[in-house]
Amino acid sequence: MSADPRRQVPRTDTLLADGQIVPAVERLGRDLVKDAVRTVQERIRAGDVAPTAAVAAVLAELPDTAASLRPVLNATGVLVHTNLGRAPLSAAALAAVAAAGGTTDVELDLATGRRGPRGEAALAALRAAVPAAEAALVVNNCAAALALVATALGQGRELVIARGELVEIGDGFRIPELLESTGARLREVGTTNRVTAEDYTRAVGPDTGAVLKVHPSNFVVRGFTRSVPVAELAAALTGTAVPLVADVGSGLPAPDPVLPDEPDLQTTLADGADLVLASGDKLLGGPQAGLVLGRADLVQRLRRHPLYRALRVDKTALAALEATLRGPLPPVSRMLAADVAGLRARAGALAARLAGAGVDAVAVDSAARVGGGGAPEHPLPSAAVSLPEELAELLRAGSPPVVGYVEAGRTLLDLRSVLPESDEALAAAVLAVAGR
Ligand SMILES: *Cc1c(COP(=O)(O)O)cnc(C)c1O
Repeated sequence: MSADPRRQVPRTDTLLADGQIVPAVERLGRDLVKDAVRTVQERIRAGDVAPTAAVAAVLAELPDTAASLRPVLNATGVLVHTNLGRAPLSAAALAAVAAAGGTTDVELDLATGRRGPRGEAALAALRAAVPAAEAALVVNNCAAALALVATALGQGRELVIARGELVEIGDGFRIPELLESTGARLREVGTTNRVTAEDYTRAVGPDTGAVLKVHPSNFVVRGFTRSVPVAELAAALTGTAVPLVADVGSGLPAPDPVLPDEPDLQTTLADGADLVLASGDKLLGGPQAGLVLGRADLVQRLRRHPLYRALRVDKTALAALEATLRGPLPPVSRMLAADVAGLRARAGALAARLAGAGVDAVAVDSAARVGGGGAPEHPLPSAAVSLPEELAELLRAGSPPVVGYVEAGRTLLDLRSVLPESDEALAAAVLAVAGR
């Protein structure tokens, strides 16, 4: 009888020198491959893997990349899902990120060999997308844009803001706490449900650094309510020299007929805001970024402030932002624009294919959402593949992971948040976990 296989555990050095494993060491680094080797050696000792299958088991154990973040199929129907990385980048933006990831001319004018303005092309693309903006600035995210504005315009002074706009965005991020952390004092006006232009103008005085309007984003107040639109507030502030800053959050460059109630950058500036702030990775469909657009003198003040240096974006975000604005429609825009007939056809085809393979699958109508704190009361008509409830967990643990949602005892995979080119991968992922 041969020796106990558990005694024949291949040595770490032997496995790391194997012809099939060496390329993985080059691709992923020695430490990650060593982790996989150790895991497999444990399994051999436990008798779960044959010693002769060690190399194959190590290869199967290796991660795809040296980072642990994995691509996930978002079938939640929430287009901008914060827990799933918000806006997925377009292929054009991903290619731009890859190109800019190495050594790149982000701050060098190659024609003269001199230092050039950082990210000028991305800023020009922003101004082109929002013609009402004299100037633009990009920082790390919209919270950073708010912090910069509050510091540069409001430190030691007052920021006038409506009580109904002192909002919490999510995960404990409260805008009033962020503003006060900069040393600005908040001058709250109006009540929770109502505020008028006179409330604002009465509060404005020599100590006022700016008037701030914050889009409530993730909730609505109904009933006996009144807020002051940007145009009315701008008119009321005429002659006061107090800047009106509007944080619109979601970052639509221009009005979108699919989301009639969502504020956009161009209209907000055209209505008279001096600065408008937004996120880059919500409805704009780009990388995480904070966009600041508007009056050139104010943008210049922010750019010159020492805090700007701590908030500026890296070269890959600038590249992704420019490609999002100049390149083909980003995924979020395509998902928003998808017509429900097309979504139903895709759900029907997917369900038929799965049912043909013996999976309990039917196409159903569903309601998708913008997410990321946008258009909270605006369901988007959609279509989904309905599967047995127990598949939700298996799909999440699959490869690639698929995240759907459970409703009324069924797992729904909503297709508005899945691009058509991913339908094939979605079908394969379901078939893999449904055991067919
Ligand atoms: C989402 C949101 C923010 C925060 O944006 P980040 O880019 O996540 O920092 C700020 N203000 C409003 C109105 C928002 O909707």
